[in-house]
Amino acid sequence: MRDDQQSRQSQQKVDAHQRLKLRYMNELLHTQFGFSAFRPGQKELISHILDGRDVLGILPTGAGKSLCYELASRLLPGMTFVITPLISLMQDQVESLSRLGIPAAFVNSSQSVDESDRILSDTLTHHAYKILYVAPERLDNAQFVRFARHIPLRLLAIDEAHCVSQWGQDFRPAYLRIPDFVDQLPHRPVIAALTATATVNTRNDIIRQLHLHDPFVQVTTFDRPNLTWKIRQCSSKKERDEAIVDDVLAHRGQSGIIYCATRQRTQDLADALNDAGVKALAYHAGLDAKTRAERQDAFVSGRIPVIAATSAFGMGIDKPDVRWVIHANAPESLEEYYQEAGRAGRDGKPSECTLYWMENDFRTSRHFIAAAGRDNDELTPEDRLRVRQRMTNRLEALHAYCLTMHCLRNTIMAYFGEKKTERCGRCTNCTTTVPLVDVTVQAREICAGVDEAQERLPYGIGRAKLATILTGRMPEMADDSGPDYASWDSYGALSEMSVRDVKTVIDRLIAGDYVQITGRYATVHAGPRFHDVSQANFSLRIRQVPSDHGTSHVSRSRRLHSRTLFGMNSSVRAKNTTSGGRTVGAISADNEELFKHLRSVRYALAKKKNVPSFAIFTNATLRAMAAHQPTSTQEMAELPGVGPVKLAQYGDLFVKEIRSYRNK
Ligand code: ADP
Ligand code: MG
Repeated sequence: MRDDQQSRQSQQKVDAHQRLKLRYMNELLHTQFGFSAFRPGQKELISHILDGRDVLGILPTGAGKSLCYELASRLLPGMTFVITPLISLMQDQVESLSRLGIPAAFVNSSQSVDESDRILSDTLTHHAYKILYVAPERLDNAQFVRFARHIPLRLLAIDEAHCVSQWGQDFRPAYLRIPDFVDQLPHRPVIAALTATATVNTRNDIIRQLHLHDPFVQVTTFDRPNLTWKIRQCSSKKERDEAIVDDVLAHRGQSGIIYCATRQRTQDLADALNDAGVKALAYHAGLDAKTRAERQDAFVSGRIPVIAATSAFGMGIDKPDVRWVIHANAPESLEEYYQEAGRAGRDGKPSECTLYWMENDFRTSRHFIAAAGRDNDELTPEDRLRVRQRMTNRLEALHAYCLTMHCLRNTIMAYFGEKKTERCGRCTNCTTTVPLVDVTVQAREICAGVDEAQERLPYGIGRAKLATILTGRMPEMADDSGPDYASWDSYGALSEMSVRDVKTVIDRLIAGDYVQITGRYATVHAGPRFHDVSQANFSLRIRQVPSDHGTSHVSRSRRLHSRTLFGMNSSVRAKNTTSGGRTVGAISADNEELFKHLRSVRYALAKKKNVPSFAIFTNATLRAMAAHQPTSTQEMAELPGVGPVKLAQYGDLFVKEIRSYRNK
């Protein structure tokens, strides 16, 4: 009875304490920060920090992560350190806090030693500051550690915490030494890690590498309902640049950012826009600091509506009324894309994010990944492999975004671990119907090829080489001691297609996790869903792809009708069969024709029965039929790959086809 009463009383005390805490938080939000309400996630994060618990806040760009530690620090005794890699923004942050009446300062390498010494000694002698911004590298400095040991440090906020993740774009080695720094302090402060990068890998890396203690993890939705997602695949640089200029002209008078892959491209696009009458500036890391600051200011203040920039532009920049973000190239990951595109519409008003991409963007990135870490002697070969694998996975996720036919908003959400069922109704995929091509049979042939390559080659096979073999062309080889591809079952299995189209289907298979690119040589292997492909209910349809040649819209739309994609391209076929009059495998050009006929018979049958072609007869068996031309089932039974079951099922049909071919 007494126990009951006591526990009720202590519960009431806790409740009263919580109520008081929330009241103070709300009051400060209104009076000091001038905001009417907390944004999603802020209240929970601040509240746990005040309870003394470590937190990990994963909030999208613009969600208001800074407020979490700024407001918490006001309600905590002692000091708050904010670790951030963004030295150039420290000044702004300190100034805006000072305007709110919160004494703050920063120490970083842009200051003179005298200046930073003065800040540290002012802090020590008369508690001049409540919040101190620190670059992560500073935590290694013995003088700074001595200083920190004498400060009542209560909160250590780690902004852009994804920088601790070794596999991310923004890895900063100094972030790894944060736990060492904390260990040297007489009292462990509460640690608040904040980031906009939401993948599970990064999240786990942050918790582990920063030694967070049983953190409260707050992930707020990555859905940005005011953003409309668009994609457009282009077939040439010219087409792409023209489309981008048109797009910008259609948004005349609005602020926007164009993200480019190279410095040269930022200048080219800025020039093209100025020629078209839109004021635009280029921005990249190759410009001197003064020019960069001027251009950033011209854009943020609204004097110049458009900035064409590399990814050097934007982290931490707070311009609320960016109405559109265009990507003039596919970046290297969906994280990077979302982060950059997410700079549109921070004020909550409708804004557009458009990705203009070409297959070539991905080709370039794949080459880059293949060379990644080559010059870094500190990496072990295993590390290098892991780095490349991560980069590959991230790149292919973006590629899957480009290729998907699902709602783009939902695709992004799913990648960041959120499930949405209803479509957004506004993205490219929700608003346009694109002609689809059924590539179920082709996908199965490709998987058979992957399977065969895994069996025959110790390291597997590259994507381009596989496509070449499937179309019945010979991959170029350094010498002729390589494998005898012509004897493969898969050789020529898709001879009616172009190499490019085969690669497109391979990419779709990668995007769907049926196939994956792995290993030291970035080769194609079975993916987690590989075996689904041979299930009867498997089907794969893809969007029609513009051809690589030609640029004008007129010729393009005509091409869409007379398209060769996944159809019989007579010119390709002609080239194919006359490749130097060479005989393929052991059979003559004459038999080649029968072989092709038998293959089309098999193709039709496979389609009817909804099974992979190779499940009927392999190419090797069809070649043997073409060479020996059996006219009875008994003769056919002699051939390799014709067992009693297959003979009973398909023998008659194929014998009949061979007979009528011979009679012709
Ligand atoms: P990020 O999460 O990208 O670090 P910031 O902390 O820079 O975002 O905040 C983005 C903008 O949102 C800032 O202008 C900030 O003042 C504003 N903001 C933060 N919290 C609120 C709030 N509760 N209500 C209104 N505006 C807010
Ligand atoms: Mg921020």
